[in-house]
Amino acid sequence: MEENIIPWSGQVVTVQKKAIKNIYLKVLPPEGRILLSVPKGCSRREIEAILERRRAWLLERQRLIRAHANTPAKRQYVSGEKIPVWGTPCELVVREVPGNKARVARKGDRVLLMVPGYATREQRRQVINDWYRHQLECVVARERSRLESLVGKSAAEWRFRDMHTRWGTCNVRARRVWLSIHLAKQHPEALRYVAIHELTHLWEANHGPEFKARMDRYYPRWREVKKLLRMEADFE
Ligand SMILES: [Zn+2]
Repeated sequence: MEENIIPWSGQVVTVQKKAIKNIYLKVLPPEGRILLSVPKGCSRREIEAILERRRAWLLERQRLIRAHANTPAKRQYVSGEKIPVWGTPCELVVREVPGNKARVARKGDRVLLMVPGYATREQRRQVINDWYRHQLECVVARERSRLESLVGKSAAEWRFRDMHTRWGTCNVRARRVWLSIHLAKQHPEALRYVAIHELTHLWEANHGPEFKARMDRYYPRWREVKKLLRMEADFE
């Protein structure tokens, strides 16, 4: 086997010439190195043509592989980890307590998780998520009438759940707004934006120009906050 490194599109590609009939093109994790295997007689010009033909695919594979490699390790809910609360990164302190009750308390930029020693990661995550839900309930109870009078519509019900793919939804017929408990990790402006967005659905069912015009009126910064939320999504 003959191995060559050739420059391509601002990077280098490893080309292996082997006694094979077909072409094999791979993008390898974690850094997205391109490996091309070709039959022995393949010329430099043919190799470049293959790479050019697959350019879009190669660059997209590299993007995905690199994005995946940068994904932070799953939170374990152990002491020393960072957990965000209303946009502030807090340090998690886990204390084992006797009995079977769990409790969470925030002290400045620390979050105390008090759980029995036998609690699993999943149970610790659940306790923290229940606490996020409670955070959100408290803020919504305090702010809802202000938000509702700003939009000029009120929800019959505000509910909260562990939604992983969206920040909020609105059931227009039942006038019920659902918010993701993970909003309690974000800056309070995120909750404000999502709540106003969902209430605005009580005027406009879809996201057409009328919807956007209303958002511009009720919450002029919505585009900026929307973008930030997309970048900082933490649905764990
Ligand atoms: Zn919407």
